[in-house]
Amino acid sequence: MGFAGHYLPVPFTIVCRECGQSFEMVTFEDHCPHCRMVYGVTPCHAFDPANVMAAGREE
Ligand SMILES: [Zn+2]
Repeated sequence: MGFAGHYLPVPFTIVCRECGQSFEMVTFEDHCPHCRMVYGVTPCHAFDPANVMAAGREE
């Protein structure tokens, strides 16, 4: 997952499915600052927030 720390072409504002609060996702893998749920998107879907997937919480 070498792309995880790369910046998205356009940041997404997504609503966290864990805590219901919105946050701005700026890299291909980023986490909710409220509950630390990690989200990821693949580069081929980087323009569509619908393809952002929850990857589980950080420890
Ligand atoms: Zn959250």
